[in-house]
Amino acid sequence: MSRTIGIVGGGIFGTTLALRLAQAGLDVELLERAPTLGGLADRIELGGYKVDRFYHVIVPTDEHMNGLIDELGLSDKTQFNPVGVGFWIDGKMLPFNGIKDFLTFPALSFLDRVRLARFVLTCQRKSTYDDLENIPLLPWLAKLSSQKIVDRIWRPLLDSRFDGHHEELPATYMWARTRRMNNARTGKSKAETMGALDGGHQTLIEATARAAEAAGAKIRTGVPVTGLIHEGGAVKGVKADDGDRHYDLTIPTLQPPGLKRLLPDDLQHLLDAYPQRYQGVICVLLLVKHSLIEHYSVNICDETPITTVVETSHAVGTAHTGGNRLVYLPRYCSTDSESYNLSDQEAYDRFTAKLAQLAPNFRHEDVLAWTVQRGPTVEPVYPMGVPPRVPPFDQGVDGLLLGNGAQVYPRLLNGEAIIGIAEDVARDVVASSAAPAAA
Ligand SMILES: Cc1cc2nc3c(=O)[nH]c(=O)nc-3n(C[C@H](O)[C@H](O)[C@H](O)COP(=O)(O)OP(=O)(O)OC[C@H]3O[C@@H](n4cnc5c(N)ncnc54)[C@H](O)[C@@H]3O)c2cc1C
Repeated sequence: MSRTIGIVGGGIFGTTLALRLAQAGLDVELLERAPTLGGLADRIELGGYKVDRFYHVIVPTDEHMNGLIDELGLSDKTQFNPVGVGFWIDGKMLPFNGIKDFLTFPALSFLDRVRLARFVLTCQRKSTYDDLENIPLLPWLAKLSSQKIVDRIWRPLLDSRFDGHHEELPATYMWARTRRMNNARTGKSKAETMGALDGGHQTLIEATARAAEAAGAKIRTGVPVTGLIHEGGAVKGVKADDGDRHYDLTIPTLQPPGLKRLLPDDLQHLLDAYPQRYQGVICVLLLVKHSLIEHYSVNICDETPITTVVETSHAVGTAHTGGNRLVYLPRYCSTDSESYNLSDQEAYDRFTAKLAQLAPNFRHEDVLAWTVQRGPTVEPVYPMGVPPRVPPFDQGVDGLLLGNGAQVYPRLLNGEAIIGIAEDVARDVVASSAAPAAA
């Protein structure tokens, strides 16, 4: 007899999982609290156009993401374009697009450029990270590149990425990040190439959900789950706003802070296996009449209230925004930080003041529409040497599997890693469903 499976959360994780389980012939129901699927990758309306809440691109080597895109027949809706990256350093915007810019990068001496290249090569060649787990990040960066590079580049970038608190990070963080970003550099010139789907990641999520439904999954939106039903030592389903739903197996796909609200007191200890610190993001999104930055994104190497500037129109085009451009000004921070709790107007004022330094052609009157988007739980922060890094999906509670973005370590949290791990969970469920029942 087929097991009934309830999935909580209709982001990339939940929809991919629903698809794979339904394709395997299992009886799946997915519950999403919002009126639409998508989560962090959802679309919003801005100035009359449908746009990504947050910026989303694909890297050419994203194996799972590109595989799913192909499988769902979306390849002709995907375009890869060379995009630029800039460095804002010493009050100047410097391009950093490929070998030529690297060789002439004026912010570093020739020797430091060689050291930086050696660092990138070392990360690319190193395929394991166990020995990096207990090494503090900044001293490791200084040893492998130089103290000058740390002071001018790495430390300011880490400050704005982790809201000034990154002492506890292991070397693994920059190893993983360098490898992923290097995968975006293709061709002889090693210029960065990024891909995007027409309509953003949401196009993929919608197609995944449609394919899951065609395979028999039930997808319900507008159904907030308020807790798990835990009886006799086993999870028996979920409590939802519209009543209890019983499943043989329940799989919440929420990261631990969201999961915490669902777990009954006697299962709260399951959270001990996950990182305790999470980054959120507050992001001002502008729809503007013309391009502000010639690069897709900017690494800001001075004191800054924003982590970066991302003009996604370089990657996603402007056909869906009437020729206007989208510029995202994110700040990664925790939900209790001052930045996260700025009012919308304060965030707009503060973040665009920095933008005006980077983009001298920025004028408030060219902003056709703007919004402030907040994501309370975007990614976990893994401190040095706190095992286990990746808690198992099965933590020993009957009727419950835990699969979420806090298990992608050491990969960075993005669609590629999420699809990969959702497929791992699906494989485990399918394998255990096929196993003969115990006598
Ligand atoms: C600023 C930013 C930039 C990014 N850039 C990229 C990029 O360029 N490329 C890339 O691939 N990825 C990018 N990402 C990451 C990507 O968005 C996420 O990794 C991915 O969307 C996470 O999917 P998820 O399904 O795990 O989680 P989520 O998207 O968080 O989905 C969880 C879902 O669960 C639902 N939910 C929560 N509580 C309940 C409840 N009680 N009951 C029912 N449903 C509930 C939520 O509404 C949500 O829909 C970016 C993220 C951010 C924030």
